[in-house]
Amino acid sequence: MPDTVDILAIAAHRDDVEQTCGGTLLKMAQRGYRTAILDLTQGEMGTRGSAEDRAREAAQAAALLRVSWREALDIPDGRVENTWENRLKVVRVLRQLRPRVVVLPYWQGRHPDHYTCSTLGYEACFLAGLSKLGQELPSLQAAAPTASPLDAIAKLPPHRPFKIVYASLYFDVRPSFVVDITDQFETRFQALMAYGSQYADQSAGAGLFPMQGEIRQRLEAMASFYGLLAGVKYAEPFVQKEIGLVEDLLAIPVKSI
Ligand SMILES: [Zn+2]
Repeated sequence: MPDTVDILAIAAHRDDVEQTCGGTLLKMAQRGYRTAILDLTQGEMGTRGSAEDRAREAAQAAALLRVSWREALDIPDGRVENTWENRLKVVRVLRQLRPRVVVLPYWQGRHPDHYTCSTLGYEACFLAGLSKLGQELPSLQAAAPTASPLDAIAKLPPHRPFKIVYASLYFDVRPSFVVDITDQFETRFQALMAYGSQYADQSAGAGLFPMQGEIRQRLEAMASFYGLLAGVKYAEPFVQKEIGLVEDLLAIPVKSI
């Protein structure tokens, strides 16, 4: 069984985390927290490169972001569905890694895999805390697929993350807070560029894929936009459903006027 982690980011595709919250994960690792990434799919639908290419690139990116654990599930790329079977796959990882914080994609967006991952992830976080999951009535067991992961899940103690935050970079929504990634921006860019099969300047699919310089410009523009909202150079946006709680009015960051 792998060691437990402090923060787990769950995303639909390899390279999603690098774009939406990679700087934050690196910053948390630099603060001494153990971080992890669970990608739901293996990227076999990508225009360029194979799933094997993506696996190697994802490992390189994880090393740059100092992520302690990274795995990809076998959910079909382009067909992320919020099914009982898929929820159980995520529950198993949640019970193994026992994160205090889970980062999910924002629950609206252009790509169905992204917003479905959000709901699937949330429901898995809920299920993971049910102590009787895996010990249900035989009728529920029978409804599960033949090679049910329920037995494995039942052997792991229940766990529910304390906090769920939503990485909202893919959707135009006002964030609840941003994380200053000024010092992590460069490494995050390198982590994204580790996906050479997707982003390296090359002719195949050139009409679809912007060149590296253009990608860098876009990343800078997005990070600057969210940074400006909080008075820092570069930042990543997040939404939380809960209200903020303040102890000390004099310690609230971000200048008003
Ligand atoms: Zn994606």
